[in-house]
Amino acid sequence: MSRRYITTAIDYASAAPHMGHVMEKILADVCARWMRLSGHEVRFQIGMDEHGVKVQRAAAKAEVDPQQFVDRFAALYEDLYRRLHISSDFFIRTTDRTRHWPTVQALWKKLAESGALEKQSYTGLYCQGCERFLTARDLQDGVCPIHQAKPEEVTESNWFFLLGREGEWLKKLLTEPDGYRIVPDHRAPETLSLIEQGLEDVSFSRPKSSLSWGIPVPDDDEQTMYVWCDALSNYISGLGYLTPMQESQWWEGAEVTHVIGKDIARFHALIWPAMLKNAGLQVPPPQRLLIHGFLTSEGQKMSKTVGNIVQPEEVLSHFGGNPDPLRLYLSHEIPVGNDGDFSWKRIDEIYDAKLRNQLGNLLNRILVLLRKDGDGSLIIEQHALRAEAKQRWEDFGKGMDSFELQNAIQAVFNLCLSGNIYIDVHKLWTLKGEEKKKELSALAELLRHITLMLLPFVPHTAQEMARQLNLPCAAMMLEKDFVITERMKEWGGEENWTKVGEPNILFAPLVK
Ligand SMILES: [Zn+2]
Repeated sequence: MSRRYITTAIDYASAAPHMGHVMEKILADVCARWMRLSGHEVRFQIGMDEHGVKVQRAAAKAEVDPQQFVDRFAALYEDLYRRLHISSDFFIRTTDRTRHWPTVQALWKKLAESGALEKQSYTGLYCQGCERFLTARDLQDGVCPIHQAKPEEVTESNWFFLLGREGEWLKKLLTEPDGYRIVPDHRAPETLSLIEQGLEDVSFSRPKSSLSWGIPVPDDDEQTMYVWCDALSNYISGLGYLTPMQESQWWEGAEVTHVIGKDIARFHALIWPAMLKNAGLQVPPPQRLLIHGFLTSEGQKMSKTVGNIVQPEEVLSHFGGNPDPLRLYLSHEIPVGNDGDFSWKRIDEIYDAKLRNQLGNLLNRILVLLRKDGDGSLIIEQHALRAEAKQRWEDFGKGMDSFELQNAIQAVFNLCLSGNIYIDVHKLWTLKGEEKKKELSALAELLRHITLMLLPFVPHTAQEMARQLNLPCAAMMLEKDFVITERMKEWGGEENWTKVGEPNILFAPLVK
């Protein structure tokens, strides 16, 4: 067993959660669950980024105190993630003065002492929407490509983090085998090319007069910390780093995975490790930057003008509050690292074809047949399907361990398909007596394997399947210390399982 620490981006507290947030949290949750199920000790952290000019202005506009303003959003996000069954262990908030601020201020002091911070007068192009200075490279036709706005020329005196001098070291870190891996591989060149173009120093503070809602810079009353030092530090402030609360085992002894969107991946790939190194905290994590793409809607960028914005709440209520169709859709349809598309037609298709027909029907057919002429008791013996299950466990494990979740979920449905085909080809319903019971028991055993494989993706569906199958582990399988042992992956690997339970419709037909 080893320790795994997995984090996501902290969401910015100025608007309600959208599908991009949801896609990232579900991706990280599937990984975190798989790490736990594989026997690792896991800490999974998510949270909120709550400072900055945008929050300051929005709160003023809404005539509420900024703290109250962000408290509302934090509650909204936490509630949504709970209903999506995100199994995070800790929710860090950057306005947390007990947990977050002491770490960030201590980290700042370490950076200052090491000579990595320098006060410079700076004139740059500032995008209000991005809340940051843009470089000439960021602009497209003179405007910010995200906000389609011309940045303002602003001159001010700021503390700068000397990132410009770290290029060679970062290049080595990001390319050596034991370094900081960008996953999937095809996401690495865009970051490496930034190093080739030459890195610039990064503004780490802003005058209090323009940014007041933030963490004060230690030993400089005139300055407030700007987003990077404040937000990136959440990964260690959640661990109480550089304070008496420090839980070093999650940083120094753990394998660290940061899950992040492609738009802010470069800050995580470049600024964050350079900060850790200069503060003397590169020991040597993090190990992995897992990058995901963006989600379009019906083939187009989501936008108010097009009117194609999909709200996570809409998707949840479309399936009666069950998050599993969405969890499956995102895992099944979007290869990790790629952009993906959300389509109402497609999610209904996935629901009907995969969840209802392939999975739900298989479970129902087997349970009904097993209980029809008997008491649902099982005789699990060696069987032709055993080799199939073994092969699929290999495919599944390979996909999960290499963060190619789309391959893993495909392996599960391949196993489902094999089960369904087997029933039809061998016309199991026409068999009699002991032979029939043995064949159906083999299919029930196949379903046990499918159930275990579905656990990281659709945990509550998997538990419901386990209940109907009457698996002894059903009650414990959603506990954080439940482990899928090697024995459980073997054919007949559940010794105390003697009969199946009552069938129930797993997924109801969609009301059209
Ligand atoms: Zn912008």
